[in-house]
Amino acid sequence: MLRLIMTDGEVARALKCVLERVAEATKARHQDVAALCAQPRLVAVSKTKPKEMIIEAYAAGQRHFGENYVQELVDKGHDEQILVECPDIKWHMIGHLQSNKVKKIIEVPNLYCIETVDSIKLATAIDKAVEKNQGDKTLRVFAQVNTSDEENKSGVHPNNVNDLVSHIMHNCPNLDFAGIMTIGAFDHDLSKGPNPDFQRLLKCRASVSEAQCTEPKDIEMSMGMSNDFEHAIVVGSTNVRVGSTIFGARNVKK
Ligand SMILES: *Cc1c(COP(=O)(O)O)cnc(C)c1O
Repeated sequence: MLRLIMTDGEVARALKCVLERVAEATKARHQDVAALCAQPRLVAVSKTKPKEMIIEAYAAGQRHFGENYVQELVDKGHDEQILVECPDIKWHMIGHLQSNKVKKIIEVPNLYCIETVDSIKLATAIDKAVEKNQGDKTLRVFAQVNTSDEENKSGVHPNNVNDLVSHIMHNCPNLDFAGIMTIGAFDHDLSKGPNPDFQRLLKCRASVSEAQCTEPKDIEMSMGMSNDFEHAIVVGSTNVRVGSTIFGARNVKK
C-alpha cells in the first residue's frame, strides 16, 4: 500500500507557508472587498489524517480544524490526547450531515461550528439538539449553498438560501447564524477569470444581507480550498478550508 507520510516538522512548516499565503492574499484584496469582509480565518482540514498531525499543527499555533466524516470527528473530538494537548481546539464540521447523526456531533467537545446546514429540517434538528445538550449556549452554523448546481454536491439552491437563513435566524433560537459556505466546482481554470461559484456565493450574501437587514461584513463567507484559497480570499472569503497543502495528499477513501 502506498502511504504518504510527512516527516517531523513538515506540518508546521507547511502551515506557516499557508499562513503567509493567506496574509499575502488578504493584502491583495481590493479596498471594496476589504471593506465588506472580515480578515480570513484558516481552517486546517485534517480529515483522514492522524491525530499526531493535528497535535503538531496545534503546537504550531493553529486552532481551527475541519473534519468531514461524523465518526472521525466524534473520535478525534473525544480523543484523550487531543483533549489534553489541544485544550483550545475549535472543530468545524464541514461534511454532509444527516439529521439522525446530529446528536453525536453536538456532543463533540470543542465543537465550534457546523458549516454544512443545507435544509430547514436539518437546522431544526440541530437547534433542538443544541437546546437539549447545552441549554443556554448557542452554536454557530453556516448555510451551505450548492453554487455549482452539481447533483452530487450538498447545499441549498442559491434561490432558496434566504428561506433557510431566515429560518435559522428567526425559528432556531439555539443557533447563531455565522454565514454561508460553498464547495463549488473543483476544476475551475482561474486563467479564464474569477471562479463563478465564488461570485454566486457573493451574490447570495448580498441577497441575505438585504433580506435580513444585516451588514455584509457580519455574514461570513466560507469558500476556498487548497487549490484556490488565495483567489477565494482576494474575492472575499473569510474562512478558507485547507487540507492537503498543510497535511499532505490524502489516500483516497473507499
Ligand atoms: C476535503 C475538504 C476540504 C479541503 O480540501 P483540500 O483540497 O485538501 O484543501 C475543504 N472543504 C471541504 C468541504 C472538504 O471536504
